[in-house]
Amino acid sequence: MTDTMNSIQRKGKNRIFDCELHVRQDMTVAYASEGYYQFVDTKSMLPVTDFLGREATELLKGINGLLKEPIECITTIDNLNGRIHHIYMRAENSARIESEGEHLYRLIMYDYKQLKARNDKAEEWLIKYRNFLSWSKLFFFEYNIASNNFIVYRYANEQAAKLVDVDLDEFFMNRKESLKRDLSEIEQMNRFVTYLKEGSMSFEMEFTRPQGEKEVACKVFGAQMRNDRNFMIGVFQPVNQSEEEEQEYFMKTSSKDAATGLLNKSAAAEFSLEQLRKKDGKVRWIVMMDIDDFKFINDTYGHLFGDEVISRMAAIAKKTLGRRGIVGRFGGDEFYLFIDGIEDREELRNFLKTMVRSFYYEFSPNLKVTASIGVSKYPDDGTDYEVLMSKADKALYIAKEKGKNRHIIYDEQLHGSYEQSDKHLNAVKYTISKEKKTKALSELFCGLTVSGIEHLKNNEVLTTICQVLDIDAISVCSDFGTRYICGTEGHLLGKNGVHNLLQNEKYLRMFGKDGVYIENKAAKLISVLPDIYVEFKKSDIGATIQCIGKVDGRPHSWVSFDVLGTSRKWNDADVELFTIVGKCICNLLDRKA
Ligand code: GH3
Ligand code: MG
Repeated sequence: MTDTMNSIQRKGKNRIFDCELHVRQDMTVAYASEGYYQFVDTKSMLPVTDFLGREATELLKGINGLLKEPIECITTIDNLNGRIHHIYMRAENSARIESEGEHLYRLIMYDYKQLKARNDKAEEWLIKYRNFLSWSKLFFFEYNIASNNFIVYRYANEQAAKLVDVDLDEFFMNRKESLKRDLSEIEQMNRFVTYLKEGSMSFEMEFTRPQGEKEVACKVFGAQMRNDRNFMIGVFQPVNQSEEEEQEYFMKTSSKDAATGLLNKSAAAEFSLEQLRKKDGKVRWIVMMDIDDFKFINDTYGHLFGDEVISRMAAIAKKTLGRRGIVGRFGGDEFYLFIDGIEDREELRNFLKTMVRSFYYEFSPNLKVTASIGVSKYPDDGTDYEVLMSKADKALYIAKEKGKNRHIIYDEQLHGSYEQSDKHLNAVKYTISKEKKTKALSELFCGLTVSGIEHLKNNEVLTTICQVLDIDAISVCSDFGTRYICGTEGHLLGKNGVHNLLQNEKYLRMFGKDGVYIENKAAKLISVLPDIYVEFKKSDIGATIQCIGKVDGRPHSWVSFDVLGTSRKWNDADVELFTIVGKCICNLLDRKA
């Protein structure tokens, strides 16, 4: 970064007007930096007050003797030849004294517009370099000799993810504890600490560093930071790591949601778990956010515009949060924020207020986009990701119930204790690996091909599907809903056939042209489809994806994939998967008819 800063300043055109002047009591200039002489040119004999705006001249003329404290203001400086700078000016006592013993004042001036432009440019560069660093496999460390603070971090999706932030002695003690058995590693650790504490100009060594539960062999390169001898920086370069060990999932390109560039659900969960594992007591916030009445936006303005809304909201959330945490998309219109850079409720409320106002005005006046938000707090509401997620989810649910367009910060006393039965958290599902899913699905399709629908009449098969696809229940009916084919034990829906359901016009209208009905929140049906709501309620269905297959234009086969007792925000991948499995089963049943 230093190099890039220099390069901005080197380019004459972009040179920032910043100068330092030492002036006498009558405000004539004793000596100044080159920039000042260039600016006033031949008029350098004039008092500086001749060039400054009224705000500054009044302040400076009021000075009498030594200044008790520095004075500062925003003003202009005009070289009386057509050039004006808008400046920040600060005046203080100078350490220099004129030959006759008169003390001088030191004036510092910056063009604040140029500073702002430079800052914006630097931000741009920062993002670029963070992008580069996100692809790197290195771990970075820094050590402040004066404060003894030792930090290790990596870059994930353009953000620094701190892995260690402790007192070096404490780090050393903990490492020694865990390295009890290995003298050579303790010796290695000693050497590393000595290099840092002594502020070595540069060093290189082998090192074993902890990464989660594992120990990772690394090469270390460290050096004193240029311009600051008190500061050591360096990198850990892991050696001989397998592709699998190399990076956590959240570091990989595939960890991003393609439409918004935000972390996807699995990556956001993994990132959060890693942060919470630190158990350092630092405050963190888990935020679940869901766009209000998004279906209305889709229905009114079209799906494409709906996509645009999602991606613009994603960008706003990311920009507003900045480096204070990460933003993820959990699928559909649901976002997730993990915040570790906000200390208290007041600051959190301000952040949320700023973000939702930006959403609102982004599409105003044509469309007023609002969102409901649920928040839980670490460590107050729990130290476990699963518990924190469920509390944030519950708070979000309450925000929706209370009329949407609001945020609710979870409060044990107000919102009741967290119920263990809320087991279908949006968070923990990522644990089922892709491989496991693929394996189970190929077994399912093989089974269906070989044994036809009989394959499903085995409870074990159904249980596996539920586990792998992370749902609670399945039921299948055929013969225009009159025949129950199979279903998970204890689940009622479908048991007595769904003939009546398949006669219900309102219910059938919930299905798309593709014969698929996606319901995130069955509770919502209470007002729109009360009779269906009652049916679902009997089986405690909280969310469902259902498929129908038609014979002679009439619904013939029916498959329901259900989540019990709680709502579920189905994401695109879920919908795709259940549609394929559901359609396949329907086809088998319809073909026979
Ligand atoms: P609520 O206020 O209760 O949140 O109601 P809602 O209308 O926002 O409905 P809900 O959150 O339950 O469902 C979100 C809908 O968003 C469901 C689906 O049709 C739609 N959706 C999901 N993913 C996408 C997407 O990627 N693009 C678009 N355009 N729509 C999506
Ligand atoms: Mg919504």
